[in-house]
Formats: sequence, structure tokens, C-alpha cells
Amino acid sequence: MSDDMLVPVIDLRGVGLTYPGPPPVAALKPCDMRIERGVYTTIVGPSGSGKSTLLNVLGLLDAPSAGTYHLDGIDTGSASETRRTSLRAARIGFVFQSFHLLPHRSARENVELAMVYQRVPRRDRRLRAGEALERVGLGHKIERLPTRLSGGERQRVAIARALVGEPSLLLCDEPTGNLDSRTAAAILDLLDALHRDGMTIVVITHDSQVAARGQRRISVHDGVLTDVTSALPAS
Ligand code: ADP
Repeated sequence: MSDDMLVPVIDLRGVGLTYPGPPPVAALKPCDMRIERGVYTTIVGPSGSGKSTLLNVLGLLDAPSAGTYHLDGIDTGSASETRRTSLRAARIGFVFQSFHLLPHRSARENVELAMVYQRVPRRDRRLRAGEALERVGLGHKIERLPTRLSGGERQRVAIARALVGEPSLLLCDEPTGNLDSRTAAAILDLLDALHRDGMTIVVITHDSQVAARGQRRISVHDGVLTDVTSALPAS
């Protein structure tokens, strides 16, 4: 195992976020959290508990107002805004509740676009997009427009787009929130399969059934994180 593999993907030390207000809102109280490589973590909490705030911090969309956040061992607090943007693009794959696909671009083009900013040559982009769509079970529909795909298929395209840059972390915000229960189960099965392949996954949800899928479970209440299960892989 290389040294890189031993560095946690996420390492929060005393990280908190208070919105300045007025009045100030301590949406995320200072917390420590380490997420090791290859672990599937779910973070569950009711509405208003601080989930989006935590997601925005983990996804480098918002800077915390306290503490230090190392992503893959890199101190994100001392990085410039440009560097944070490139860290986000290269190391974090986002999956959102509402898919966020471009409606007039095919599944393949949606996935390819994720690589444009990483300066992947055009031919490689095509090849890799096809491979990512195969990986999520959509190899036979790569030229379809999202409007001609079901909700579950759209989420598969979004997952392929998130995976194609080979991120360190797959960060999912209510990934099954817009899906019926059968389709949701299939998407959760796909996340399990990606986890078995070694992907580090964080799913943020208000749904306790989704949360139960995590190997490690963290709950959020009033901006306070509690480790509900800190079980590591049995192997
Ligand atoms: P959740 O995603 O779990 O619903 P949030 O992270 O959105 O929770 O919100 C946590 C708390 O922070 C809530 O009390 C919310 O009202 C407050 N909050 C969220 N965003 C802002 C903001 N931009 N300014 C001030 N308060 C905010």
C-alpha cells in the first residue's frame, strides 16, 4: 500500500461554520471527522440540522469559519480560490438529488463535459465517457438525451459524470430523493457496487433507510456530528 492510500480522504479538525447573520447562526459546530479511503459513509439528519452546510464545506463550495480541512492530505484552507476550484474538479465527484444534467446534450456529452476543464483530449473524453456509462449500466443508451431517460437512468448518467474524472471522493446529496422506491434501491445497489470496487463515498440524506446502507454512519443534529457507527471493514 502506498503512503497516499494511508492518508485519509477527509480530515476535519475543529471545523465549524457560522453564518455571520445578523444574527449569527452556528450551522456547523466545530467538529473533528476523518474519512478513510474506501469507506462508505452516510450522514443523516433532519431538515435544518446542518447537512447542506457540511456538504458545502466537504465539497469545497464554502470555506469553514473555523478549523482545518485536509482533503487527500492537502490543506484546503491555505489554498487560493483557483486552487480550491481545481481541487474540487479533480478530486470530488458530485451527485445531486435533481441530477443537474444538460437536457439538450446526450448522456455521453454530459459525461464528456466533466472532462473538458481537465484538458482531457477529445478522443480520450469520448472513450472514457463510454466506459463510465458502461460502469453504471447505461452502455446501451449513451446517445440518449436525458429527457428520454427515466429518473433512475438520469441519476446513473450523473454518477458516471461524477466518476469519470476518477475522483478521490464521491459526494452525494440525497441521491435517491427524486426517485421511486424501486429505482432508489437500484441506485443504492450501484453505490454499494462502487464501494466494493474501492470508491470512497459520502452520502448526505434525511432518509434513515438510505443512511442504513453506510458502513460508517454519522448523524447531525443542530450542527453537531455524532458517530453512530465507526465500524471499519471487517477484512
Ligand atoms: P439542512 O441541510 O440539514 O436542512 P442547513 O445546513 O441548510 O441544514 O442549515 C443549518 C442551519 O443554518 C439552519 O438553521 C439554517 O436556517 C441555517 N442557514 C443555512 N444557510 C444559511 C445562511 N446562508 N445564512 C444564515 N443561516 C443559514
